[in-house]
Amino acid sequence: MPTTTTAPTDTKTTASPAAAKAAKPRKPLPAPNSDFYDVYETLSAEELKALKDVRAFMEAQVAPIITKYWADDAFPFELLPAVKALNIGGLGMKGYGCRGGSLALFGFVSMEMARVDPSFSTFFGVHNGLAMGSIYLDGSEEQKQKWLPPMARMEKIGCFGLTEPLVGSGAGRGLLTTAKREGDTWVLNGEKRWIGNAPWCDVSVIWARDVADNQVKGFIVENKSTPGFSVEKIEHKIALKVVQNGHITLKDCRVPEANRLQGGNSFRDTARVLKVTRYMVAWMATGCAMGAYEAALAYAQTRLQFGKPIGSFQLVQDLLARMLGNITASQCLVTRMAQLHAEGKLTDAHAALSKAFTTVKCRETVAWARELLGGNGIVLDYKVARYFADAEALYSYEGTLQMQNLIVGKAVTGLSAFV
Ligand SMILES: Cc1cc2nc3c(=O)[nH]c(=O)nc-3n(C[C@H](O)[C@H](O)[C@H](O)COP(=O)(O)OP(=O)(O)OC[C@H]3O[C@@H](n4cnc5c(N)ncnc54)[C@H](O)[C@@H]3O)c2cc1C
Repeated sequence: MPTTTTAPTDTKTTASPAAAKAAKPRKPLPAPNSDFYDVYETLSAEELKALKDVRAFMEAQVAPIITKYWADDAFPFELLPAVKALNIGGLGMKGYGCRGGSLALFGFVSMEMARVDPSFSTFFGVHNGLAMGSIYLDGSEEQKQKWLPPMARMEKIGCFGLTEPLVGSGAGRGLLTTAKREGDTWVLNGEKRWIGNAPWCDVSVIWARDVADNQVKGFIVENKSTPGFSVEKIEHKIALKVVQNGHITLKDCRVPEANRLQGGNSFRDTARVLKVTRYMVAWMATGCAMGAYEAALAYAQTRLQFGKPIGSFQLVQDLLARMLGNITASQCLVTRMAQLHAEGKLTDAHAALSKAFTTVKCRETVAWARELLGGNGIVLDYKVARYFADAEALYSYEGTLQMQNLIVGKAVTGLSAFV
Protein backbone atom coordinates (compact mmCIF):
# COMPACT_ATOMS: atom_id res chain seq x y z
CA MET A 1 0.00 0.00 0.00
CA PRO A 2 1.61 3.30 -1.00
CA THR A 3 2.43 5.45 1.94
CA THR A 4 0.82 8.85 2.37
CA THR A 5 3.95 10.35 3.87
CA THR A 6 5.76 12.72 1.53
CA ALA A 7 9.48 13.12 1.71
CA PRO A 8 10.65 16.68 1.35
CA THR A 9 12.62 17.55 -1.75
CA ASP A 10 16.29 18.21 -1.16
CA THR A 11 16.65 21.85 -2.21
CA LYS A 12 20.21 22.34 -1.08
CA THR A 13 22.43 24.10 -3.61
CA THR A 14 26.18 23.76 -4.06
CA ALA A 15 28.76 26.40 -4.98
CA SER A 16 30.20 26.97 -8.45
CA PRO A 17 31.39 25.20 -10.69
CA ALA A 18 28.36 23.03 -10.06
CA ALA A 19 26.12 26.09 -9.93
CA ALA A 20 24.40 25.33 -13.21
CA LYS A 21 23.70 21.77 -12.16
CA ALA A 22 22.47 22.92 -8.76
CA ALA A 23 20.09 25.43 -10.31
CA LYS A 24 18.12 22.54 -11.84
CA PRO A 25 15.39 21.41 -9.44
CA ARG A 26 16.25 18.06 -7.94
CA LYS A 27 13.99 15.05 -8.45
CA PRO A 28 11.64 14.62 -5.48
CA LEU A 29 12.94 11.92 -3.18
CA PRO A 30 10.82 8.77 -2.87
CA ALA A 31 8.44 8.75 0.08
CA PRO A 32 9.36 6.17 2.72
CA ASN A 33 7.56 2.93 1.94
CA SER A 34 8.20 -0.23 3.92
CA ASP A 35 6.20 -2.50 1.59
CA PHE A 36 9.14 -3.22 -0.71
CA TYR A 37 7.86 -6.55 -2.05
CA ASP A 38 4.23 -5.39 -2.39
CA VAL A 39 2.90 -7.78 0.24
CA TYR A 40 -0.19 -5.61 0.63
CA GLU A 41 -1.13 -6.70 -2.88
CA THR A 42 -1.83 -10.20 -1.57
CA LEU A 43 -5.06 -8.82 -0.07
CA SER A 44 -8.36 -8.62 -1.94
CA ALA A 45 -9.73 -5.21 -2.94
CA GLU A 46 -12.29 -5.38 -0.13
CA GLU A 47 -9.61 -6.21 2.45
CA LEU A 48 -7.34 -3.49 1.15
CA LYS A 49 -10.14 -0.98 1.54
CA ALA A 50 -10.60 -1.99 5.20
CA LEU A 51 -6.86 -1.68 5.73
CA LYS A 52 -6.78 1.76 4.15
CA ASP A 53 -9.48 2.88 6.60
CA VAL A 54 -7.31 1.63 9.47
CA ARG A 55 -4.28 3.43 8.04
CA ALA A 56 -6.22 6.66 7.63
CA PHE A 57 -7.47 6.42 11.23
CA MET A 58 -4.03 5.63 12.62
CA GLU A 59 -2.29 8.40 10.68
CA ALA A 60 -4.93 11.10 11.12
CA GLN A 61 -6.10 10.45 14.67
CA VAL A 62 -3.54 8.34 16.54
CA ALA A 63 -0.18 9.54 15.16
CA PRO A 64 -0.60 13.23 16.09
CA ILE A 65 -1.38 12.58 19.76
CA ILE A 66 0.14 9.24 20.72
CA THR A 67 3.60 10.39 21.79
CA LYS A 68 2.09 12.60 24.47
CA TYR A 69 -0.05 9.71 25.75
CA TRP A 70 2.98 7.43 25.70
CA ALA A 71 4.99 9.92 27.74
CA ASP A 72 2.10 10.31 30.19
CA ASP A 73 1.45 6.53 30.59
CA ALA A 74 -2.12 7.19 29.51
CA PHE A 75 -4.66 5.62 27.15
CA PRO A 76 -6.50 7.87 24.64
CA PHE A 77 -10.07 6.93 25.58
CA GLU A 78 -11.46 9.68 23.37
CA LEU A 79 -10.41 7.59 20.34
CA LEU A 80 -12.64 4.63 21.24
CA PRO A 81 -15.71 5.87 19.30
CA ALA A 82 -13.58 6.17 16.15
CA VAL A 83 -12.14 2.67 16.68
CA LYS A 84 -15.68 1.31 17.03
CA ALA A 85 -16.65 3.07 13.80
CA LEU A 86 -13.91 1.17 11.95
CA ASN A 87 -16.07 -1.94 12.41
CA ILE A 88 -13.13 -4.22 13.12
CA GLY A 89 -14.37 -5.80 16.39
CA GLY A 90 -14.33 -9.56 15.97
CA LEU A 91 -11.99 -9.42 13.01
CA GLY A 92 -11.09 -12.96 11.94
CA MET A 93 -14.15 -14.47 13.69
CA LYS A 94 -17.38 -15.55 12.04
CA GLY A 95 -20.91 -15.03 13.39
CA TYR A 96 -21.92 -13.58 16.77
CA GLY A 97 -21.87 -10.02 15.37
CA CYS A 98 -18.16 -10.31 14.59
CA ARG A 99 -16.50 -8.50 11.67
CA GLY A 100 -15.37 -11.77 10.09
CA GLY A 101 -12.66 -11.63 7.44
CA SER A 102 -9.53 -13.69 7.16
CA LEU A 103 -6.82 -14.06 9.76
CA ALA A 104 -4.58 -12.50 7.10
CA LEU A 105 -6.62 -9.31 7.32
CA PHE A 106 -6.45 -9.38 11.12
CA GLY A 107 -2.67 -9.73 10.75
CA PHE A 108 -2.39 -6.84 8.32
CA VAL A 109 -4.55 -4.65 10.58
CA SER A 110 -2.34 -5.48 13.59
CA MET A 111 0.77 -4.69 11.52
CA GLU A 112 -0.73 -1.46 10.24
CA MET A 113 -1.68 -0.32 13.75
CA ALA A 114 1.77 -1.19 15.11
CA ARG A 115 3.38 0.74 12.24
CA VAL A 116 1.98 3.87 13.86
CA ASP A 117 1.79 2.71 17.46
CA PRO A 118 2.59 -0.75 18.87
CA SER A 119 0.66 0.08 22.06
CA PHE A 120 -2.53 0.68 20.13
CA SER A 121 -2.07 -2.54 18.24
CA THR A 122 -1.54 -4.34 21.56
CA PHE A 123 -4.71 -2.88 23.05
CA PHE A 124 -6.67 -4.15 20.06
CA GLY A 125 -4.86 -7.52 20.03
CA VAL A 126 -5.59 -8.14 23.71
CA HIS A 127 -9.27 -7.36 23.25
CA ASN A 128 -9.84 -9.00 19.89
CA GLY A 129 -7.27 -11.81 19.90
CA LEU A 130 -6.78 -12.84 23.52
CA ALA A 131 -10.11 -12.04 25.18
CA MET A 132 -12.58 -12.54 22.33
CA GLY A 133 -10.37 -15.28 20.88
CA SER A 134 -10.57 -17.29 24.13
CA ILE A 135 -14.37 -17.13 24.11
CA TYR A 136 -14.53 -17.84 20.37
CA LEU A 137 -12.20 -20.85 20.56
CA ASP A 138 -13.06 -22.25 24.00
CA GLY A 139 -16.58 -20.99 24.74
CA SER A 140 -19.84 -22.90 24.34
CA GLU A 141 -22.40 -21.79 21.75
CA GLU A 142 -24.37 -20.08 24.52
CA GLN A 143 -21.32 -18.30 25.86
CA LYS A 144 -20.36 -17.06 22.40
CA GLN A 145 -23.88 -15.74 21.85
CA LYS A 146 -23.86 -13.93 25.16
CA TRP A 147 -20.37 -12.39 25.25
CA LEU A 148 -19.13 -11.92 21.70
CA PRO A 149 -21.72 -9.49 20.23
CA PRO A 150 -21.13 -6.66 22.77
CA MET A 151 -17.38 -7.27 22.53
CA ALA A 152 -17.54 -7.17 18.72
CA ARG A 153 -19.34 -3.82 18.97
CA MET A 154 -16.57 -2.86 21.43
CA GLU A 155 -19.17 -1.87 24.01
CA LYS A 156 -17.44 -4.29 26.34
CA ILE A 157 -13.64 -4.48 26.25
CA GLY A 158 -11.79 -7.58 27.35
CA CYS A 159 -8.50 -8.75 28.80
CA PHE A 160 -6.75 -12.09 29.27
CA GLY A 161 -5.27 -13.13 32.62
CA LEU A 162 -2.78 -15.96 32.42
CA THR A 163 0.55 -14.64 33.77
CA GLU A 164 1.05 -14.41 37.52
CA PRO A 165 3.60 -12.59 39.67
CA LEU A 166 5.42 -15.87 40.34
CA VAL A 167 4.54 -17.82 37.19
CA GLY A 168 5.34 -16.48 33.72
CA SER A 169 7.03 -18.80 31.22
CA GLY A 170 6.03 -21.79 33.32
CA ALA A 171 2.28 -21.10 33.08
CA GLY A 172 1.60 -24.41 31.38
CA ARG A 173 3.11 -26.33 34.25
CA GLY A 174 1.75 -24.75 37.39
CA LEU A 175 -0.57 -21.79 37.83
CA LEU A 176 -0.90 -20.74 41.44
CA THR A 177 -4.33 -19.13 40.96
CA THR A 178 -6.90 -21.69 42.04
CA ALA A 179 -10.49 -22.47 41.12
CA LYS A 180 -12.61 -24.46 43.54
CA ARG A 181 -16.06 -25.63 42.60
CA GLU A 182 -18.87 -25.23 45.13
CA GLY A 183 -22.09 -26.44 43.55
CA ASP A 184 -22.81 -24.23 40.57
CA THR A 185 -20.26 -21.63 41.63
CA TRP A 186 -16.49 -21.42 41.25
CA VAL A 187 -14.34 -19.66 43.84
CA LEU A 188 -11.23 -18.05 42.38
CA ASN A 189 -8.19 -17.05 44.44
CA GLY A 190 -4.84 -15.73 43.30
CA GLU A 191 -3.07 -12.94 41.44
CA LYS A 192 -2.49 -12.12 37.78
CA ARG A 193 0.23 -9.80 36.55
CA TRP A 194 0.83 -7.79 33.41
CA ILE A 195 -2.75 -8.04 32.21
CA GLY A 196 -3.26 -5.61 29.32
CA ASN A 197 -6.42 -3.42 29.45
CA ALA A 198 -7.26 -4.81 32.92
CA PRO A 199 -7.29 -1.50 34.84
CA TRP A 200 -10.25 -0.20 32.84
CA CYS A 201 -11.85 -2.98 30.80
CA ASP A 202 -15.13 -4.82 31.46
CA VAL A 203 -14.47 -8.52 31.00
CA SER A 204 -11.50 -10.66 32.07
CA VAL A 205 -10.77 -14.17 30.88
CA ILE A 206 -8.99 -15.62 33.91
CA TRP A 207 -7.06 -18.88 33.73
CA ALA A 208 -6.89 -20.83 36.99
CA ARG A 209 -5.98 -24.31 38.20
CA ASP A 210 -8.92 -26.46 39.23
CA VAL A 211 -7.95 -27.86 42.63
CA ALA A 212 -9.99 -31.01 41.91
CA ASP A 213 -8.08 -32.20 38.83
CA ASN A 214 -5.11 -29.78 38.64
CA GLN A 215 -6.10 -28.74 35.10
CA VAL A 216 -6.06 -25.16 33.84
CA LYS A 217 -9.56 -23.78 33.19
CA GLY A 218 -10.80 -20.47 31.85
CA PHE A 219 -13.37 -18.22 33.54
CA ILE A 220 -15.16 -15.11 32.33
CA VAL A 221 -15.12 -12.57 35.14
CA GLU A 222 -16.93 -9.25 35.04
CA ASN A 223 -14.38 -6.81 36.41
CA LYS A 224 -16.67 -4.09 37.64
CA SER A 225 -19.33 -6.11 39.39
CA THR A 226 -17.62 -9.22 40.80
CA PRO A 227 -16.90 -8.90 44.53
CA GLY A 228 -13.31 -9.87 45.39
CA PHE A 229 -11.94 -8.74 42.01
CA SER A 230 -9.51 -5.83 42.22
CA VAL A 231 -6.88 -4.44 39.88
CA GLU A 232 -3.98 -2.05 40.23
CA LYS A 233 -2.33 -0.37 37.29
CA ILE A 234 1.34 -1.29 36.81
CA GLU A 235 3.36 1.93 36.86
CA HIS A 236 6.84 2.89 35.63
CA LYS A 237 6.92 0.78 32.45
CA ILE A 238 9.43 1.71 29.78
CA ALA A 239 7.58 0.04 26.87
CA LEU A 240 4.04 0.00 25.44
CA LYS A 241 3.24 2.76 27.88
CA VAL A 242 -0.12 3.57 26.30
CA VAL A 243 -1.40 0.08 27.15
CA GLN A 244 -2.66 -0.03 30.72
CA ASN A 245 -1.35 -3.23 32.32
CA GLY A 246 -2.90 -4.43 35.53
CA HIS A 247 -2.01 -6.51 38.57
CA ILE A 248 -5.23 -8.37 39.37
CA THR A 249 -6.08 -9.81 42.78
CA LEU A 250 -8.83 -12.41 43.08
CA LYS A 251 -10.01 -12.90 46.63
CA ASP A 252 -12.77 -15.45 47.03
CA CYS A 253 -14.12 -14.25 43.71
CA ARG A 254 -17.30 -16.18 42.94
CA VAL A 255 -18.29 -16.83 39.34
CA PRO A 256 -21.10 -19.05 38.09
CA GLU A 257 -20.44 -22.33 36.27
CA ALA A 258 -22.10 -20.61 33.29
CA ASN A 259 -18.98 -18.38 33.12
CA ARG A 260 -16.50 -21.27 32.94
CA LEU A 261 -15.31 -21.63 29.37
CA GLN A 262 -16.91 -24.92 28.47
CA GLY A 263 -14.22 -25.82 25.94
CA GLY A 264 -11.28 -24.77 28.13
CA ASN A 265 -10.44 -27.88 30.10
CA SER A 266 -6.65 -27.96 30.12
CA PHE A 267 -3.67 -25.82 29.18
CA ARG A 268 -3.91 -27.29 25.67
CA ASP A 269 -7.07 -25.24 25.20
CA THR A 270 -5.28 -22.10 26.44
CA ALA A 271 -2.48 -22.88 23.99
CA ARG A 272 -4.96 -22.86 21.08
CA VAL A 273 -5.60 -19.22 21.88
CA LEU A 274 -1.88 -18.49 22.29
CA LYS A 275 -1.15 -19.96 18.86
CA VAL A 276 -3.32 -17.29 17.25
CA THR A 277 -2.05 -14.47 19.44
CA ARG A 278 1.61 -15.39 18.83
CA TYR A 279 0.73 -15.30 15.17
CA MET A 280 -0.59 -11.78 15.79
CA VAL A 281 2.47 -10.57 17.71
CA ALA A 282 4.62 -11.57 14.74
CA TRP A 283 2.59 -9.15 12.60
CA MET A 284 2.83 -6.45 15.26
CA ALA A 285 6.61 -6.80 15.52
CA THR A 286 6.80 -6.45 11.74
CA GLY A 287 4.67 -3.29 11.92
CA CYS A 288 6.79 -1.85 14.73
CA ALA A 289 9.92 -2.31 12.60
CA MET A 290 8.16 -0.71 9.61
CA GLY A 291 7.25 2.39 11.61
CA ALA A 292 10.81 2.80 12.90
CA TYR A 293 12.28 2.26 9.42
CA GLU A 294 9.98 4.78 7.75
CA ALA A 295 10.75 7.41 10.42
CA ALA A 296 14.50 6.73 10.09
CA LEU A 297 14.38 6.92 6.29
CA ALA A 298 12.50 10.24 6.33
CA TYR A 299 15.10 11.54 8.77
CA ALA A 300 17.98 10.31 6.58
CA GLN A 301 16.52 12.17 3.59
CA THR A 302 16.34 15.48 5.41
CA ARG A 303 19.08 15.55 8.03
CA LEU A 304 22.21 17.24 6.68
CA GLN A 305 25.75 16.56 7.81
CA PHE A 306 28.93 17.54 5.97
CA GLY A 307 26.59 19.57 3.75
CA LYS A 308 24.68 16.51 2.50
CA PRO A 309 21.64 14.49 3.54
CA ILE A 310 22.94 11.69 5.76
CA GLY A 311 20.92 9.31 3.52
CA SER A 312 23.50 9.92 0.81
CA PHE A 313 26.27 8.30 2.87
CA GLN A 314 27.13 4.69 2.10
CA LEU A 315 27.19 3.55 5.70
CA VAL A 316 23.77 5.06 6.36
CA GLN A 317 22.35 3.37 3.26
CA ASP A 318 23.80 0.12 4.54
CA LEU A 319 21.78 0.51 7.75
CA LEU A 320 18.61 1.28 5.77
CA ALA A 321 19.09 -1.71 3.48
CA ARG A 322 19.59 -4.00 6.47
CA MET A 323 16.42 -2.66 8.11
CA LEU A 324 14.42 -3.14 4.94
CA GLY A 325 15.80 -6.67 4.58
CA ASN A 326 14.61 -7.55 8.09
CA ILE A 327 11.20 -6.04 7.43
CA THR A 328 10.74 -7.70 4.06
CA ALA A 329 11.78 -11.11 5.42
CA SER A 330 9.33 -10.68 8.31
CA GLN A 331 6.50 -9.59 6.01
CA CYS A 332 7.01 -12.59 3.75
CA LEU A 333 7.12 -14.90 6.77
CA VAL A 334 3.89 -13.61 8.31
CA THR A 335 2.11 -13.58 4.95
CA ARG A 336 3.00 -17.25 4.41
CA MET A 337 1.94 -17.96 8.01
CA ALA A 338 -1.50 -16.51 7.17
CA GLN A 339 -1.68 -18.81 4.14
CA LEU A 340 -0.83 -21.79 6.37
CA HIS A 341 -3.66 -20.78 8.68
CA ALA A 342 -6.09 -20.46 5.76
CA GLU A 343 -5.03 -23.94 4.60
CA GLY A 344 -5.70 -25.31 8.12
CA LYS A 345 -2.00 -26.15 8.53
CA LEU A 346 -0.76 -23.59 11.06
CA THR A 347 0.93 -25.35 13.99
CA ASP A 348 2.13 -24.04 17.35
CA ALA A 349 5.68 -24.34 16.05
CA HIS A 350 4.90 -22.26 12.95
CA ALA A 351 3.47 -19.47 15.11
CA ALA A 352 6.33 -19.76 17.62
CA LEU A 353 8.99 -19.53 14.91
CA SER A 354 7.36 -16.42 13.43
CA LYS A 355 6.98 -14.76 16.82
CA ALA A 356 10.62 -15.51 17.66
CA PHE A 357 12.08 -14.47 14.29
CA THR A 358 10.08 -11.26 13.80
CA THR A 359 10.61 -9.98 17.34
CA VAL A 360 14.38 -10.59 17.11
CA LYS A 361 14.48 -8.80 13.75
CA CYS A 362 12.26 -6.01 15.06
CA ARG A 363 14.58 -5.43 17.98
CA GLU A 364 17.56 -5.30 15.62
CA THR A 365 15.75 -2.96 13.20
CA VAL A 366 14.57 -0.43 15.78
CA ALA A 367 18.09 -0.33 17.23
CA TRP A 368 19.50 0.51 13.79
CA ALA A 369 16.81 3.16 13.34
CA ARG A 370 17.73 4.67 16.68
CA GLU A 371 21.40 4.63 15.69
CA LEU A 372 20.61 6.38 12.41
CA LEU A 373 19.00 9.28 14.26
CA GLY A 374 22.07 9.86 16.42
CA GLY A 375 21.18 11.81 19.57
CA ASN A 376 17.68 12.51 18.32
CA GLY A 377 17.10 8.75 18.40
CA ILE A 378 16.63 8.88 22.14
CA VAL A 379 14.14 11.78 22.09
CA LEU A 380 10.44 10.87 21.91
CA ASP A 381 9.63 13.74 19.52
CA TYR A 382 11.41 11.90 16.70
CA LYS A 383 9.17 8.81 17.09
CA VAL A 384 11.91 6.20 16.76
CA ALA A 385 12.59 6.13 20.51
CA ARG A 386 9.02 4.94 21.09
CA TYR A 387 9.37 2.01 18.68
CA PHE A 388 12.78 1.27 20.19
CA ALA A 389 11.31 0.92 23.68
CA ASP A 390 8.12 -0.87 22.59
CA ALA A 391 10.08 -3.57 20.76
CA GLU A 392 11.35 -4.78 24.15
CA ALA A 393 7.84 -5.69 25.31
CA LEU A 394 6.94 -7.38 22.01
CA TYR A 395 10.12 -9.44 22.37
CA SER A 396 9.09 -10.75 25.82
CA TYR A 397 5.30 -11.00 25.93
CA GLU A 398 3.18 -13.87 24.57
CA GLY A 399 6.09 -16.12 25.52
CA THR A 400 9.75 -15.13 25.48
CA LEU A 401 12.20 -15.98 22.71
CA GLN A 402 13.45 -18.94 24.73
CA MET A 403 9.92 -20.36 25.11
CA GLN A 404 9.19 -19.98 21.38
CA ASN A 405 12.48 -21.65 20.50
CA LEU A 406 11.75 -24.54 22.87
CA ILE A 407 8.43 -25.06 21.04
CA VAL A 408 10.24 -25.03 17.68
CA GLY A 409 13.03 -27.21 19.07
CA LYS A 410 10.56 -29.82 20.25
CA ALA A 411 8.83 -29.86 16.85
CA VAL A 412 12.01 -30.28 14.82
CA THR A 413 13.83 -32.75 17.07
CA GLY A 414 10.87 -34.67 18.39
CA LEU A 415 12.43 -34.20 21.83
CA SER A 416 10.97 -31.92 24.51
CA ALA A 417 13.44 -29.71 26.36
CA PHE A 418 10.74 -28.29 28.63
CA VAL A 419 11.52 -29.11 32.24
C1 LIG B 1 3.92 -5.26 28.31
C2 LIG B 1 3.48 -6.64 28.67
C3 LIG B 1 2.16 -7.03 28.44
C4 LIG B 1 1.71 -8.29 28.82
N1 LIG B 1 0.41 -8.62 28.68
C5 LIG B 1 -0.06 -9.79 29.19
C6 LIG B 1 -1.46 -10.09 29.18
O1 LIG B 1 -2.29 -9.31 28.67
N2 LIG B 1 -1.87 -11.26 29.74
C7 LIG B 1 -1.01 -12.15 30.29
O2 LIG B 1 -1.45 -13.19 30.78
N3 LIG B 1 0.33 -11.89 30.31
C8 LIG B 1 0.82 -10.74 29.79
N4 LIG B 1 2.17 -10.45 29.82
C9 LIG B 1 3.08 -11.40 30.45
C10 LIG B 1 4.08 -12.04 29.50
O3 LIG B 1 3.45 -12.98 28.68
C11 LIG B 1 5.23 -12.59 30.34
O4 LIG B 1 5.97 -11.47 30.81
C12 LIG B 1 6.12 -13.55 29.60
O5 LIG B 1 5.44 -14.74 29.28
C13 LIG B 1 7.38 -13.90 30.39
O6 LIG B 1 7.09 -14.24 31.71
P1 LIG B 1 7.88 -13.52 32.90
O7 LIG B 1 7.89 -12.06 32.64
O8 LIG B 1 7.30 -13.99 34.17
O9 LIG B 1 9.38 -14.01 32.76
P2 LIG B 1 10.00 -15.38 33.34
O10 LIG B 1 9.15 -16.54 32.97
O11 LIG B 1 10.33 -15.20 34.77
O12 LIG B 1 11.34 -15.48 32.49
C14 LIG B 1 12.50 -14.70 32.80
C15 LIG B 1 13.61 -15.14 31.83
O13 LIG B 1 13.93 -16.53 32.04
C16 LIG B 1 13.83 -17.22 30.82
N5 LIG B 1 13.38 -18.60 31.04
C17 LIG B 1 12.34 -19.02 31.82
N6 LIG B 1 12.24 -20.35 31.77
C18 LIG B 1 13.22 -20.80 30.93
C19 LIG B 1 13.64 -22.09 30.45
N7 LIG B 1 13.00 -23.20 30.80
N8 LIG B 1 14.69 -22.13 29.61
C20 LIG B 1 15.32 -21.01 29.22
N9 LIG B 1 14.98 -19.78 29.63
C21 LIG B 1 13.96 -19.68 30.48
C22 LIG B 1 12.80 -16.44 29.99
O14 LIG B 1 12.93 -16.71 28.61
C23 LIG B 1 13.18 -15.01 30.37
O15 LIG B 1 14.26 -14.57 29.60
C24 LIG B 1 2.63 -9.20 29.41
C25 LIG B 1 3.96 -8.81 29.60
C26 LIG B 1 4.38 -7.56 29.26
C27 LIG B 1 5.82 -7.18 29.51
